[in-house]
Amino acid sequence: MLNGMPRIGFGLWKIPQEETADCVVEAVRAGYRHFDSAADYANEEQTGEGLARAMSEGLAGREDLWVTSKLWNTFHAPEHVEEACRKSLSDLRLDYLDLYLVHFPIALRHVPIEKRYPPEWVYDPDAQNPRMERAAIPLHETWAAMEALVDSGLVKNIGVCNYNTALIHDLMSYARIKPAMLQIESHPYLTQERLIRLAGDYGIDVTAFSPLGAQSYFELDMASEGESLLKAAPVMVAADAHGKTPAQVLLRWGIQRGTAIIPKTTKPDRMRENLAIDDFKLSQVEMAAISALNQNRRFNDPGTFTEVAFNTFHPIYD
Ligand code: NAP
Repeated sequence: MLNGMPRIGFGLWKIPQEETADCVVEAVRAGYRHFDSAADYANEEQTGEGLARAMSEGLAGREDLWVTSKLWNTFHAPEHVEEACRKSLSDLRLDYLDLYLVHFPIALRHVPIEKRYPPEWVYDPDAQNPRMERAAIPLHETWAAMEALVDSGLVKNIGVCNYNTALIHDLMSYARIKPAMLQIESHPYLTQERLIRLAGDYGIDVTAFSPLGAQSYFELDMASEGESLLKAAPVMVAADAHGKTPAQVLLRWGIQRGTAIIPKTTKPDRMRENLAIDDFKLSQVEMAAISALNQNRRFNDPGTFTEVAFNTFHPIYD
């Protein structure tokens, strides 16, 4: 995997601010060395506090840690990219990022940091009918500004999230510095075989987000209980056979198909559970049975949530 990026990372989305610093310290103590952060998660300051505490307690040094952050949609204009990166760096109390990703192929109207941070999706939350406001910024301009961050040493690697195959072909046609990472939703209900294969053809590593599938989306009313992969028959059968939990089987499946995974939890016992997947191997038959669960079910779909939550229909995958 990319320049020594640990294959299992710790996801930080939806960890409440007041719990984040302690979670990060606990995660380092449990053995995590890779943290998946983003400006939009609204907890980078607290993540920075946790990382600093872990380092000062001697749990890990900066060189042992892999920290990823992401460029938010309102900072796509080339003149805003470095400013956004520096804000994440200062919140995280770091002087470089190991990986910086374009969070979505969606450019939104800029909101100054002093006005509101993180700016989230709608331009004016106080408007009568708050909506997203699109910005006419080509992705190649954003990418050139991302490349400049590598040139200046602020970030070691750059990549993208939530790109489809057509956007990857396009990006590869102009990238001076090739994307090192593609981060996408992937789990057994959304296996994304062709996208992952294409990334492999171009030499781009893949990180699977929401590796536990529906679990992350119940609290957002974006998934129903019946969609839990933890109760899917082939997952439960493999868990029984190996004396592991269904979550461990899902994470092992993700690793065994060659992706990195970044499970999130606020619970120290689950932090350890989610890391303890190196001591068993799923058979080819088990892998195939789990992969056969695919139903192209995307839980994190801007084509759905932007309309429900932000009064703006903004599909990107169709
Ligand atoms: P996830 O890690 O697949 O699932 C997290 C959910 O599963 C939480 O509700 C957690 O609850 C629960 N959970 C964790 N471990 C468990 C276990 N062993 N058994 C049972 N339940 C367990 O989903 P995610 O947070 O959506 O995705 C992971 C990370 O990917 C995010 O945190 C974020 O860093 C990244 N991400 C990136 C994007 C993007 O657009 N680039 C989008 C989404 C996510 P508790 O906390 O209560 O344990």
